[in-house]
Amino acid sequence: MIGITGQIYGQIGKGFGDTAEESMRERESGKTTMWKCPKCGREFKKKEQGHYCGEKPKTIDEYILSQDADKQEALQHIRQILRNALPEAEERISWSMPTYWKKHNILHFAASKGHIGLYPGPAAVMQFAEELQSYKTDKGTIRIPYGGIDAALIEKIAKWCWETGNHA
Ligand SMILES: [Zn+2]
Repeated sequence: MIGITGQIYGQIGKGFGDTAEESMRERESGKTTMWKCPKCGREFKKKEQGHYCGEKPKTIDEYILSQDADKQEALQHIRQILRNALPEAEERISWSMPTYWKKHNILHFAASKGHIGLYPGPAAVMQFAEELQSYKTDKGTIRIPYGGIDAALIEKIAKWCWETGNHA
């Protein structure tokens, strides 16, 4: 017994030690120097990091209004498409993103600089791979250009996520 306990503590001790040593090394090399936004006090690794500076949006409307003015129309458009596709789902903010929820998160979207990210989960991206050929995709992400919203396709993906239980 004692031997086993000692061994476990030994392993844990080693783990903690390594982590501490790693962060010390980072601190000494200046890697973890943080930039603090003077307006909201949030800290970022990058100086002058762009971010939503203020209270976090609590609704999808607040989220959209917190984005650049020239992007709001496209964001409202995608929101209406998802709302029509998923009339029973609740709109909420989850993981800081507009989210469609019913018992679980069905999918999210989010505004980026050059595109709208749609996050339907990896199974949906695979399922619709052929129709998504002209889009940049990642595991569970579809990058939709602001000027290139395909309502029919987005609706189809959202419904598929809900009906099949494959979700973000
Ligand atoms: Zn700020």
